[in-house]
Amino acid sequence: MSFIYSKEIPITAKPDVLVCGAGLAGIGAAVAAARGGARTMVVERNGFAGGFFTATVGSAFDGFVDERTGTPVVGGIVFEMLERMGVVEKGQAAKLRYNVNGDLTWVEMHPERAIPRCDPERFKRAADAILEDAGVQVLLHSQVADVVAVNGHVEKVIVSNKVGLVAIEPKVVIDCTGDGDAAAWAGAAFAKAESLQPMSLHFRIAYLQPTYELRRRCAAVLEKAHERGELGLYAGPYLATFSGRDAYFNATRYPGDNTIPEDWTQAEIQGRKDAWTMFELWQRELAEFEEAYFMTSGPVAGGRESRRIVGDYELTEEDVREGRRHEDVVVLGAWRLDKHPAASAGYHDISWIPPYDIPYRTLLPKDFDNLLVAGRCHSATPAALASSRVTATAMGMGQAAGTAAALAVAGNRTPREVDTSRLQEILRASGGILQAPDADIEVGNPDF
Ligand SMILES: Cc1cc2nc3c(=O)[nH]c(=O)nc-3n(C[C@H](O)[C@H](O)[C@H](O)COP(=O)(O)OP(=O)(O)OC[C@H]3O[C@@H](n4cnc5c(N)ncnc54)[C@H](O)[C@@H]3O)c2cc1C
Repeated sequence: MSFIYSKEIPITAKPDVLVCGAGLAGIGAAVAAARGGARTMVVERNGFAGGFFTATVGSAFDGFVDERTGTPVVGGIVFEMLERMGVVEKGQAAKLRYNVNGDLTWVEMHPERAIPRCDPERFKRAADAILEDAGVQVLLHSQVADVVAVNGHVEKVIVSNKVGLVAIEPKVVIDCTGDGDAAAWAGAAFAKAESLQPMSLHFRIAYLQPTYELRRRCAAVLEKAHERGELGLYAGPYLATFSGRDAYFNATRYPGDNTIPEDWTQAEIQGRKDAWTMFELWQRELAEFEEAYFMTSGPVAGGRESRRIVGDYELTEEDVREGRRHEDVVVLGAWRLDKHPAASAGYHDISWIPPYDIPYRTLLPKDFDNLLVAGRCHSATPAALASSRVTATAMGMGQAAGTAAALAVAGNRTPREVDTSRLQEILRASGGILQAPDADIEVGNPDF
């Protein structure tokens, strides 16, 4: 069943660059485009920027370092966010060595290294400030609902907000929605894996002092409950702390596709059931939970993998495993091959990989002349995306896409016609890292 709906709607803005989604990639893209001189607008469906860090709640800037040495492999706006959050002192971000992420496994392995921890409230504040300082026009509570495109050219982006439906008419669009909403609705080709990584609803527990040992004890309780049939699918559990007196748990697992509303709904409802089941099991069996308080879930269940837009180049598993170099590199990836399984519970294998190049061509949707994508919807095979989908990498891709969009607007060219050497030069000058320092050390897989 279908029907034709037509309506006259206002054109409310005509920016040079429109960024769809103010998550990790979106912040990078909007700030870089505005700094490049483009009149830039970003629309975000939530009431805050930050994507995963603020809407799903996590702490780990994965993809940020070469874990052999703790050396950063993504710089620029990622450095700036760490400094703006007060995680490291101003001007120090590039000089330090870091833990791979804020997860307790690595923190206890390398106590001498700094922790690139992203507290959600500090991240919100730093995101507001960096966007405002760059002169980006931010529109929150505004969801991209449709796109009007003709012959591979985006003409208007339709946004739904409390005004109703409005149209925005940009010169260049950067899709940073994670799910490739704008690109898909424009008619760009996309693919979806047969078995998508599962969704998860994170939850936060207060009055708890998390340690690596507590994590093992929590895992043992869940394993037994799963065997007894009291708990279905679950992940890890992985936990990290923001204050030392609280923990957030990445522990629920719901198979499905978050671009299917019914699946996303169930990830929330089943996620809340499972989160409370876990909390009550731990309260019953672990003394550490005696004073613990279930503070919050979400805000929303997160999707790890959905549409992958088909670009001029598709990043492959071999690119990632072999640390391949590409002439049009715009950011480095460095996170492990971390594909959460959709059908099994507990911990999963995550293979170490060396830093690798992400080509500019993975940000250029095939057959479109004014559209870029950045973040977890970029062009990659499902196996490669298991590494390239993470936060620091997404923000670096965003910075590259925003810089390219500004160059395209200034030169009256399409993003595809942008001179990649010039793009790389600007990225390096803005703190970007396009070549990892050599490190001749092998890393084993972590012991859970
Ligand atoms: C449960 C879970 C745990 C994870 N754990 C980690 C981790 O520990 N470390 C790590 O580095 N990565 C982790 N990841 C991966 C990481 O979150 C993402 O892959 C990363 O955030 C990708 O950045 P992005 O900008 O592409 O997407 P996001 O950060 O998700 O940002 C997308 C933004 O677009 C907005 N948006 C979406 N659709 C629309 C629309 N139609 N209109 C307007 N706005 C829209 C969203 O609200 C959001 O703000 C995890 C992912 C999940 C789901």
